[in-house]
Amino acid sequence: MKRIIIIGGGIAGLGAAYKVTRAASVGQKVEFILVEKDLRLGGKILTEIVPDPSGEGKFIVDGGPDCFLTEKPACHRIAKLTGIFDDELPTDDSRRKTWILSRGKLHQMPDGVMMFAPTKFIPFATTGLFSWPGKIRMGMEFFIPPKKVAPGELNEETLESFVVRRMGRECLDRLAEPLVGGIHASDPAKMSLAATFPRLLEMEQKYGSLMKGFIAARRMVEEMRRKYPTKPGEKPRTFFTSFVNGMQHLTDRMADAAGRERMRTGVAVSSLQHTSAGGWRSLLSDGSAIDGDAVIIATESWAAEPIVRPHDQAIADALVNIPCSSSATISIAFNENEVGFDLNAFGVLCPLAEGRALMAATYSSTKWPGRAPEGKVLLRGFVGGPHNQEVMERSDEELVQIVHSEFRDILGLNRNAKPLFTRVFRWRLGMPQYTMGHLSRVELIEERSAMISGLALAGGCYRGVGLPNCVESGERAVSKILTEWGIDLAENHIEEKRYY
Ligand SMILES: Cc1cc2nc3c(=O)[nH]c(=O)nc-3n(C[C@H](O)[C@H](O)[C@H](O)COP(=O)(O)OP(=O)(O)OC[C@H]3O[C@@H](n4cnc5c(N)ncnc54)[C@H](O)[C@@H]3O)c2cc1C
Repeated sequence: MKRIIIIGGGIAGLGAAYKVTRAASVGQKVEFILVEKDLRLGGKILTEIVPDPSGEGKFIVDGGPDCFLTEKPACHRIAKLTGIFDDELPTDDSRRKTWILSRGKLHQMPDGVMMFAPTKFIPFATTGLFSWPGKIRMGMEFFIPPKKVAPGELNEETLESFVVRRMGRECLDRLAEPLVGGIHASDPAKMSLAATFPRLLEMEQKYGSLMKGFIAARRMVEEMRRKYPTKPGEKPRTFFTSFVNGMQHLTDRMADAAGRERMRTGVAVSSLQHTSAGGWRSLLSDGSAIDGDAVIIATESWAAEPIVRPHDQAIADALVNIPCSSSATISIAFNENEVGFDLNAFGVLCPLAEGRALMAATYSSTKWPGRAPEGKVLLRGFVGGPHNQEVMERSDEELVQIVHSEFRDILGLNRNAKPLFTRVFRWRLGMPQYTMGHLSRVELIEERSAMISGLALAGGCYRGVGLPNCVESGERAVSKILTEWGIDLAENHIEEKRYY
C-alpha cells in the first residue's frame, strides 16, 4: 500500500484526498493521511448555522466563500459524485441588481455590463455612474487597436494598465477596480491580468476590442439560452451557485466521502524529511510523525514555504514572492421591517476612490433564498484588502461597529435598526495576490516540483483562487503522484470528467 500525506484540509486538500479514495475504490493500492492544523476541516470554507434568536427558523451564515462560478465544472462534479447535486442553490435572479457607490451616491450597475465592459447602449448611455467624458472615452474602446503581442509571447500587464489603456481611468476607478479587483481583493496596479483574467487579453487579440468581444459573448449566451431553455422542474443556471445549507456542505461531504478516519485535525505539519526508504516523514507539532511515500502540500503559499525550503530553495523563494492580504467578513442580521431600504439587490460595491472602510456588501438573504427566516434579513460586509490592512488590527466589536455604521451611511440602513446577532470571520493572509510575474513563479514551482519525486503543491495560491480551480489543483497533485507510480489514470477511470 502506498501512502500520500496531504498537508492542509481546505478544499484543495480535500479534493486531493477524495481523489485518492476514488483511486483506491477502483483497486489501486493507495491511501492518504490528511493533516489539518485547525480543529475544523474546510479551510476558508466555513458555514455557521445560527438559530433565529427571536423565532423558530435559522440563518445560514457563510464566513468565507458564499458561492462558486457555475460555468466551471469541478464543484458540480464533486457535488454529483458525493450525492449533493440536488442541494445546489442558484441565486434568486428575479432580485438581481448590483449597486455601485460613486461620489457618495449609489448607482445601479447598468444592464448588459460584462466584467467592466458595457454591451447594451441605452443602459450605458443613461447611467449616472459615469460622466459624459468618461462614457465617450469608454466608447472609444471600439477603435483602439489591440496591443501588439508577438505570437506565443505573454502579455504581462496589470489590470490598471489594461483598463486605462482600453477604457480610460474613470472605468477603472468606478467599475473595474471594485468589480474585478474586488474578486481577488487585489490592487489593480499590481495585479497580473495574465494570471487572473487571461480571457480579457485573448479577447483583445481576437476581436480587436473588448466591447466587441463581450457583445459577441452576450449574444452567444442569449442564443444558448434560446436553444436550451431550462426544462420544467430544472433549476435555473445562474452565474453563481451555492448550496442550500451553505458552502461548507460541499467540504463536509468531501471529507465524509474521502474518509474522515484518515484525517487528523488540530495538529500542524512542522517539517518534512526524506526517509531512508525513499519516502517522506512529516513531523507534527505534537511531536509525532507520519511516514508516507509522497506528500501533497495543500496549504497557503506562506505556510508551504518553510516546509519546502530545506528541500528546494528556489521553490521556497518563489513562494515568498506570492503576497497574501488579510480580510474579514462581518455578517449582521436584522428584522426586515426595521432596515428601511430596498432589499431587492445582491449587494453594493465600494470603489477604493470612495475612501470607505467597506469594500463591498452582500444582501445574503436576497441573493440566496433561505439564508434567513421569513421577515428577517442577513447582510454581510467585507473589509480589509491590500489597501486597508490596518482595519484588521481592530477588535471584533470595532469591526461590527465599522460595518454597521457603513451600512447606515451607504446602504441607508435605518439608524434604529437593531442587530439580531453579528458574526465576524477573519481571514489572516487569506487572499493570495497574483501580482506581476505570478505565472512565471508558478511555472518555476511546477517545473521544480515535477523533478522532486513524490512531492506536489496544491491550492488557491497558484492557478486560480476560485473553488473549482482549487479542487482541480488538489486533483492534479494526486495525478502527478499516481502517474509517477505508473498508475494509468484513464485506464482506471480516475481522470476528471464532466458528471453533469
Ligand atoms: C473572504 C473570502 C471570500 C471568498 N469568496 C470566494 C467565493 O465566493 N468564491 C470562490 O470561488 N472563492 C472565494 N474565495 C477564495 C477561496 O475561498 C479560496 O481560494 C479557497 O478556499 C482556498 O482553498 P485552499 O484549499 O487552497 O486553501 P485553504 O482553504 O486556505 O486551506 C489550507 C489549509 O491548510 C491548513 N494549514 C496551513 N498550514 C498547515 C500546516 N503546517 N499543517 C497542517 N495544515 C496546515 C490551513 O489551516 C487551511 O485549513 C474567498 C476567499 C476569502 C478569504
